[in-house]
Amino acid sequence: MDLTNIKGLNEKQIKLLEQLNIYTVDDLLHYYPYRYEFLNPASCLISDEDTIQVVNAIIETEAKASYIRKNFNLLRFRALVGEEVIQVSIYNRAFLKTSLSIGKEVTLIGKYNFKKHTFVANDIKVNAILKPKIIPVYHLTKGVKNIQLEKWIFEAFRLPVSILDAIPNSFLERYDFISKMEALLYLHCPKSTQEIKQARLRLIYEELFEFMFKIMYLKEKESKSFGLQRSFDDQKVQDFISKLPFQLTSDQEKAVFDGLQDLKSEKRMNRLVLGDVGSGKTIVATILMYANILSGYQSVLMAPTEILATQHYLSLLKTFEGYSIHIELLVGNMKAREKKRVTELIMTGQVDLVIGTHALLTENVVFSNLGLVVTDEQHRFGVNQRKMLQNKGYRSDVLYLSATPIPRTYALTIYGDMDTSMISKKPSGRRPVITKVKKENELKEVLGSIYEEIKLGHQVYVVAPIIEESESDELHNVNQLKEKFDIAFRGRVQVAVLHGKMKSSLKSEIMKQYEDGIIHVLISTTVIEVGVDVRNATMMIIFNAERFGLATLHQLRGRVGRNDLQSYCYLISNQDIPRLKVLEESNDGFYISEKDFEMRGQGDLFGVDQSGDMSFQMADLKRDYKILLQAKEDVISFLENKEYLNSSYYLQLIQKIDFMN
Ligand code: ADP
Ligand code: MG
Repeated sequence: MDLTNIKGLNEKQIKLLEQLNIYTVDDLLHYYPYRYEFLNPASCLISDEDTIQVVNAIIETEAKASYIRKNFNLLRFRALVGEEVIQVSIYNRAFLKTSLSIGKEVTLIGKYNFKKHTFVANDIKVNAILKPKIIPVYHLTKGVKNIQLEKWIFEAFRLPVSILDAIPNSFLERYDFISKMEALLYLHCPKSTQEIKQARLRLIYEELFEFMFKIMYLKEKESKSFGLQRSFDDQKVQDFISKLPFQLTSDQEKAVFDGLQDLKSEKRMNRLVLGDVGSGKTIVATILMYANILSGYQSVLMAPTEILATQHYLSLLKTFEGYSIHIELLVGNMKAREKKRVTELIMTGQVDLVIGTHALLTENVVFSNLGLVVTDEQHRFGVNQRKMLQNKGYRSDVLYLSATPIPRTYALTIYGDMDTSMISKKPSGRRPVITKVKKENELKEVLGSIYEEIKLGHQVYVVAPIIEESESDELHNVNQLKEKFDIAFRGRVQVAVLHGKMKSSLKSEIMKQYEDGIIHVLISTTVIEVGVDVRNATMMIIFNAERFGLATLHQLRGRVGRNDLQSYCYLISNQDIPRLKVLEESNDGFYISEKDFEMRGQGDLFGVDQSGDMSFQMADLKRDYKILLQAKEDVISFLENKEYLNSSYYLQLIQKIDFMN
């Protein structure tokens, strides 16, 4: 039902609501308050100056507004609380003046100075609250007031909307949950905290139930879906492995073994390789892509950034030197002619191995016989993007690589639809990266260390949060650091800049020069966060470290320590941020993610561009983990008993999932 049905809501306001992602009455009802104000007005004041007090008062004098400067005014009047006359003042509410008539009862919220009899209000309710009241507080946008949202939502409840309940009846009964409609009503217009609790619990369960349903349904579907049953010469694969410049770790061997089994079996491969940064996931994928090619099919590797795709391309060219395997790169910024050449080769089956970014997803990329799809840094892609690539093949196998920044237990639940290979141990000979948090005034010392590393023939990464100067000069930017470094090193060190806004040909050129050791210090934004592999780099400096989450910092640090040399990481921050200490303590990505989870909860753990798959409105994976497990168990029985066949809600959902997959 569209918003024009809401009484008292005009066109302009409808536009404003769109900024809050509210487009329908249904959206409006699902726009949850993020906190509540509990108002229980007292009839007298207390002497504590620091407590926020809520009292009812009767207005004694006309309110006077003084305009101090633009957008700054003060409203003052006298009022009576019990027997006491007080002087009330409030900032920026001159517009209330006409509503505050003498003799009217209002509710004041603010602090009271007992000696001076002055009350500085931060809010005034012009209609006095006579009974205890709970006020929902919503995230707002300019031009929409909380009280307006309250009113519109109240009006929405009067409309004949039907709200779909994702909790199946049997579970509603089993847990004695209130209905969805009741839950929404309790959430928006609660009469007690008990009601809020009841509503929240039910809505959290609902979200997690539906989430687990999607996962478990996919898993069941995958387990039944047939893949390509391959045959290839095992000996050739073993020869390839034995010619690698290193020996596989036991975890890598196991992951390769399981993957090869997947390829040979008639079941469709749906495997996740989960391992910390630098644990060596790429080679696992490479071996499986090789086996797939041996069996006569094309392989594709999709990476989230152009830099990473290009790097994979160059290093795979090296790995497959001397093998007759045709490899091509496909990224968005390539010239049209070049793209056309590559897509034609892909279509005619002349390419065995394609590496690219989401440019691979466009319609004109058609594979001749795609057999294996590998997605690197899979948490960077949404489900849809991954599936789109998979659908370019007929029954193609899929392999995901991820250094997912979430703890193991959660990962296993969330990725429950996939088979998982865990790479827990890093290749031997790796030393932990020595990590130190430094203040800005220790910069000289850090510059000294950089110089020492470069004299040893090593290379350095520097990361800053922004590219150029911005209004907030507290942040370091890439360009300014380049100037600083050039001055400090007086040209004895080759310093270059790399960031996302640069042309891709320039980016690849700089990346290549860095790989070749021509550039010593590479200053960049977080574009180098994922996957880049330059083994000679031994130092990572991160400016404004407080701006980054632990997962990002750990990923960034993972760019160094990729050989047997001692590597270092300096986190530069003028703030005392306890979470940075976690990185000084540990190099273990899983430990760090547990700590991160502990300290922040799910929060912004996934970052903006990672939120694709898992954005809950109310549930929090950490806090509600028990509910998640229960929901999982319930979903399993729901699927086993085929109960979903009686639920129009789930039949519809299945249609949607099937369509996408
Ligand atoms: P990630 O898991 O972060 O993607 P990579 O696959 O990029 O890590 O591997 C990191 C580095 O370790 C690469 O340079 C790779 O060649 C190297 N490497 C991988 N496996 C081994 C091994 N078993 N022994 C030594 N080095 C290895
Ligand atoms: Mg990688």
